[in-house]
Amino acid sequence: MKALVPVKRVIDYNVKPRVKSDGSGVDLSNVKMSMNPFDEIAVEEAVRLKEAGAVSEIVAVSVGPAKAQETLRTALAMGADSAVLVETDETVEPLAVAKILKAVAAEIEPGLIILGKQAIDDDSNQTGQMLAALMDLPQGTFASKVLVEGDYVKVTREVDGGLETVKLSIPAIITTDLRLNEPRYASLPNIMKAKKKPLETKTPADYGVDIAPRLKTLNVSEPPVRQAGVKVADVDELVARLKAMGVA
Ligand code: AMP
Repeated sequence: MKALVPVKRVIDYNVKPRVKSDGSGVDLSNVKMSMNPFDEIAVEEAVRLKEAGAVSEIVAVSVGPAKAQETLRTALAMGADSAVLVETDETVEPLAVAKILKAVAAEIEPGLIILGKQAIDDDSNQTGQMLAALMDLPQGTFASKVLVEGDYVKVTREVDGGLETVKLSIPAIITTDLRLNEPRYASLPNIMKAKKKPLETKTPADYGVDIAPRLKTLNVSEPPVRQAGVKVADVDELVARLKAMGVA
């Protein structure tokens, strides 16, 4: 069976985001961009499933600007077999991404679609769930363990109360949590090989998807600066201060 792995190009997780002075969004000029960390985990899981013989082919897909090709090349260097870039310079909201992924999946017919649980730029945590609804497929979100058994996949999920295991019939949708695996680094020979792997470019219009935004960002602002702490001499002073603040 094939695995489809959507990967998003996002601001690198080591970069401290700067808010644009007009409050319209995050300033992305001259900022390092990388593959969304949860998507690296998704690629890694697909590669491990391929190594274990459960998956025969891995297709990576990204919706984004031409530069997202670099992100797809990283996925190819990690072990994906081919890639599709659905190119657009517009901001694409999770619902539009999910619609595009549905159309891509209709062509590729994957047994598993493995997404990240969330993109660290918008923190939506919506795309996988929306895709499952649009495609009417079972979903195992926040996966910390994935086990393919014949026509089923067992997904252990991180939920508030601990771990829950669900058994999904394939085709199915999985979203990855942090503890699923530790992604490999692409080796230099694999980076070189990845340059020769097929990368197809399409547009949202090729899939008949209207990506016009449905949400309006009113304002983006920095979080309030944290107040300095105070050292107290003893418990009595602590209680007195808390009482004065009205919390005790
Ligand atoms: P989100 O719902 O935006 O938090 O994203 C959840 C997951 O959906 C990500 O980890 C990716 O696997 C996938 N995804 C979201 N946006 C894109 C995109 N533009 N291109 C490819 N995959 C995406």
